[in-house]
Amino acid sequence: MRGPVSTATHCPYCSLQCGITLAVEKGRVELAAQEDWPTNRGGLCQKGWTAAELLDSPERLTAPLVRDSRDQPLRPASWDEALGRVAVAMERSRAEHGPDSVGCFSGGGLTNEKAYQAGKFVRVALGSSAIDYNGRFCMSSAAAAGTKAFGIDRGLPFPLADIAGADVVLLVGSNAADTMPPAMQWFEAGRERGARHVVVDPRATATARAAHLHLQPVPGSDLALANGLLHLAIREGYIDEAYIDGRTTGFAEVRRAVRAYWPDRVERMTGVPVQDMVATVRLLGEARSAMILTARGAEQHAHGTETALAFLNLALALGLPGRPFSGWGTLTGQGNGQGGREHGQKADQLPGARRIDDPAARAHVASVWGIEPEELPGPGLSAYEMLDRLGTPGGVRTLLVMASNIAVSAPNRDRMVDRLDALDFLAVCDMFLSETAERADVVLPIAQWAEEEGTLTNLEGRVILRRKAVEPPPGVRSDLEVLADLAERLGRGKHFSADPAEVYDELRRASAGGAADYAGISRERVQSEQGVFWPCPDVSHAGSPRLFTERFATPDGRARFHAVQAQEPAELPDEEFPLILTTGRVLRQYQSGTQTRRVPVLAAAEPEAFVEVHPYVAARAEVGEGDVVRLRSRRGTAVLRARVTDTIRPDTVFVPFHWGGRAAANALTNPALDPYSRMPEFKACAVALTRLDPEEAR
Ligand code: SF4
Repeated sequence: MRGPVSTATHCPYCSLQCGITLAVEKGRVELAAQEDWPTNRGGLCQKGWTAAELLDSPERLTAPLVRDSRDQPLRPASWDEALGRVAVAMERSRAEHGPDSVGCFSGGGLTNEKAYQAGKFVRVALGSSAIDYNGRFCMSSAAAAGTKAFGIDRGLPFPLADIAGADVVLLVGSNAADTMPPAMQWFEAGRERGARHVVVDPRATATARAAHLHLQPVPGSDLALANGLLHLAIREGYIDEAYIDGRTTGFAEVRRAVRAYWPDRVERMTGVPVQDMVATVRLLGEARSAMILTARGAEQHAHGTETALAFLNLALALGLPGRPFSGWGTLTGQGNGQGGREHGQKADQLPGARRIDDPAARAHVASVWGIEPEELPGPGLSAYEMLDRLGTPGGVRTLLVMASNIAVSAPNRDRMVDRLDALDFLAVCDMFLSETAERADVVLPIAQWAEEEGTLTNLEGRVILRRKAVEPPPGVRSDLEVLADLAERLGRGKHFSADPAEVYDELRRASAGGAADYAGISRERVQSEQGVFWPCPDVSHAGSPRLFTERFATPDGRARFHAVQAQEPAELPDEEFPLILTTGRVLRQYQSGTQTRRVPVLAAAEPEAFVEVHPYVAARAEVGEGDVVRLRSRRGTAVLRARVTDTIRPDTVFVPFHWGGRAAANALTNPALDPYSRMPEFKACAVALTRLDPEEAR
């Protein structure tokens, strides 16, 4: 008798891309963790353990939906009718308003092939510059900082397991214990052999509580803290002058810039006691190996790029990048947050992490795509800027959304919903009727993670293959099939394949010679070598698990310091809005919750949004544990249940962003944009809190 068919694949959610195995027998799917996968080593979080429940969710979309007019409900339709409506709307917008009136908003969860194809579809099939994606809201500040300092944007320039070998880790703005629990084994292994860990976070999270030292700065003051730590490192003589002379440029200006960050002043700016800063610098300065890791807490600010650069300055001044078990890295968030930002779904980018305004890059990519370089449009608008202009003169009029739930995850949510409703035509590809899909003119039901195959690039820069383990339900198609069919209807079908293997091979050619060079990473190698780290320019190249050991990816091989000055968040508390709101994720939900809110065990464990409130604030507002409160900012309101806790600063409240409707954190958040990355300021805005009486709370 045949046993179950077992397939090694990967989790649908975060950038750790834990290895899992799906065994299918008589229609039943059993999920297990891969014991030997290098990032999770048998560990999974509850989201991963329950991921198979997504596959047969009763809420799954299995037929296209169309709306005959805006006041009519969505109704089932054939694929031919649904795709025909999308193609006609695209053609009409192009004819009436020009090519840039048709656009695409995509996502960091798409496979490399889909991200690549989405960028190519918009440029080649639509001739439009209007594409950007939700990774702009996630990784863009770290990406901009890494590119400025190192000449390359790879989140971790070393394997995750190296964290266990670092004697000191400074972790800034990450709650990895909740967001990617299996990664904590590498931190725990380090602490077990004597490593010391410092966590910077306005909340005393599970990650912060496990560290030796927790610095709890006011949200938005991380840049001042980093400059203050560098000031102290210089004063205490921990600077690696030989490394600075031999491997970097620009330190003299940074040394001058941090003179003004004396410890008492930085304590006033950040709320972090001087003795904790001194202790942190001594740990870093005296360690044989040390890592500085940043994440969204430091980066999702209107000055997020400069904040990441300030921590990069500290790492470079201590001589860390390129040394064993040392360096600066950023913990990527979304499942393909790394690969998704390399292959052309960014408004200013072509595959291989090339700039779209670089003539040589345009010539190379155009030759792979079989078009003339002049046919390629120029850079488009960044995510929020594109969304902010939807339906306006000169803005996008017909929008295709893939792997994104704008109505929950974009900042200034109420405005974003208005903009979606102002479109002439909205098409959404999704597995479920998300808050964005509910507003669409056409909804296209697509296959999900284990029902199709594709490569992703995890937080280490390791290219992996997520294999197909089960058949998709009848009636759904892959995103690649959707794009290929639409291209055919638009008269550009010959340029588009729906076969992931073919698309991946084309991606390899398009990326060849770029910073994110996948040319040598065949799918066979990905499978036989437990993934391959880019850059990997040819098949005889071993891949690049550790970067910068000899040179950086800049023209002269030296890393760049950047002098940066602390700036306050775009919006500060005042009399009317006296509290700082910061947002983030919780253990049992993921991103906009489109998937995890539909997994019964996760929904039961974390059924609704909440706001964390310090006991002082709660007492002042006469709020008790479990009371329903209203948070109000200059942009909108959210109604949430209070959790009273002294793990948060008294000047700060925290709301997770996984829910929509009246509990949407992003109804409050500020779209002030970082000048380099165009990242909105998700992590700090001013809000007021009031308790609702039971009548209002209903
Ligand atoms: Fe999935 Fe991330 Fe959890 Fe691993 S840590 S099981 S990749 S959600």
